[in-house]
Amino acid sequence: MTEHTKTDGLPGFEPQVLERAKPRSERMAGDKIECNACPVLCQITEGRSGACDRYANIGGTLVRVDPVILLKKAVAAGDNPVVPFVGRQQAAEHSPTAQEAAGAAAPSGSWSGDLLQADEVFVTGVGSSTTYPDYKPAPFIVSSKAADVDMVTVVTEGIFSYCSFKIKIDTDRYLGPEQANIRYKGEVVGHVTTAEYGSQMLSLGGVHHLTGGSKKEGRLTAEIMQLLGNKQAAEITIDGGSQIVVQAGRAPIVNGVEEQRMRVGCGSATIGIFAKQVFGKADEVIVVDDHITGVLTEHQAGRCLDIPPSGVKIRGRKSTPGRYFQVANPGTGWGGTDIADPLSIIEGWDAKVAWPGLQLLMTSTTGEHAAWFVLDENLVPVQMPMPVEVQAVVDRIGENCEPSLTTVLFLGGAGGSLRAGVTENPVLLTRSIKHALVNVTCGGAPAYVWPGGGITVMTDVSRMPDNSFGTVPTPAIVAPIEFTMRLSDYEALGGHMEYVRSLSSVLEHGAWHNDGAPAQRKWMQQPDINAWPAAVGPMLG
Ligand code: SF4
Repeated sequence: MTEHTKTDGLPGFEPQVLERAKPRSERMAGDKIECNACPVLCQITEGRSGACDRYANIGGTLVRVDPVILLKKAVAAGDNPVVPFVGRQQAAEHSPTAQEAAGAAAPSGSWSGDLLQADEVFVTGVGSSTTYPDYKPAPFIVSSKAADVDMVTVVTEGIFSYCSFKIKIDTDRYLGPEQANIRYKGEVVGHVTTAEYGSQMLSLGGVHHLTGGSKKEGRLTAEIMQLLGNKQAAEITIDGGSQIVVQAGRAPIVNGVEEQRMRVGCGSATIGIFAKQVFGKADEVIVVDDHITGVLTEHQAGRCLDIPPSGVKIRGRKSTPGRYFQVANPGTGWGGTDIADPLSIIEGWDAKVAWPGLQLLMTSTTGEHAAWFVLDENLVPVQMPMPVEVQAVVDRIGENCEPSLTTVLFLGGAGGSLRAGVTENPVLLTRSIKHALVNVTCGGAPAYVWPGGGITVMTDVSRMPDNSFGTVPTPAIVAPIEFTMRLSDYEALGGHMEYVRSLSSVLEHGAWHNDGAPAQRKWMQQPDINAWPAAVGPMLG
């Protein structure tokens, strides 16, 4: 009698998936291996690595050359050497052995078997390899317990064509016009986007530059994305603007000058914040700023303090009382304008209102530029040494400026085939994330999930392990990604349950496959700033 198995209506037979495809070329030399970890399909000679330097032919086996990075909450000194996996004993198998599934310790003593809880150990995607094309399950599908709950983490290195870096540069300086091209080694690799409060945003990379232009454009785009993702410095130039050295977590260097301070606010905000502190110490305060220049006596803050008008007339377009737009062109001078002489924004003084001896403080929004003037008999400002108590207010403005930083955010669309490495029904992964059942991390760092369709995630590269990013010559970016959820939820979303392996087995034996798998593991300490991936839900937009 034929035995019937209940199915969901799809064809009931399962084709056998080979761990590696047959070589495309019959003429491929016998000592070469075709790497199938990306569409380039490098043919790699024994002892050599492929085009991306991430996979190599070692003794006739394709190996992911970097160790897979594992996170622990605390790593003791000397606790992080690179340790080889014992390896799987039956190389031809595609599914875990019964011994592995049970988490039994392998004969080698390289893994002590302690810390088997998901709230102590986390397997990251860094160095984990990929199973491209992803109709194969992800390399690591790891079960463990967190707070006595059965959890699973699906771990892989994604190959991202649709991805970019958003760069936030804290600066008061003008970097270039919005929408201007950004060049790296002469090629256009991004553009200037909006200015935000105290910062200028840039967009680098993206599929348009990676794949839509010349080969050189794509190659250099991938190169700068890898550099910035790996927290290294890169020099960019903005058409019609500045030359900048950017590096995650460092101050930007604009036209050779390292930025120090992020503005405390626009000129109007600076007036508002410090009006009381300057009260009685100056008759007029002008905060020079390329966005909004503030004038104390006209400003609401000055009026609330009942400060009499000074009669100053400012160039630029008056917006609301005490707030002026376009007092000068953008630049690298006072307050992000192109002026070196602050008096150039003063058109004159109303002789019926101003008076000889009137004391004027002019400052930028960072306090880096400041000067003290007194009107002479002809109502002409004459620069004088700044009184100590006024200098103290200028110093306070500087003290309130945060250090200028460059922030590099990886933004990637984790859709497409990557999801098939997690589940047979990829849309269920997307839905489970949107229902807050699945936490998404990149190298253990929290990933913000954008609203709307698909899985578009954004991560601060500073929170990720060093050297998390790679490239392949398609060109595309390689980045780690992990999906952590309850085991029961994984089963419900159609996960590859037969490939779920215990944490102890993974730590001992490595990935479920031999072809293109990492051969070594390395411990790193989870940065304190990151929540433990198995303990929190996703950061949903
Ligand atoms: S570029 Fe790297 S991942 Fe792609 S086929 Fe070559 S070695 Fe493999």
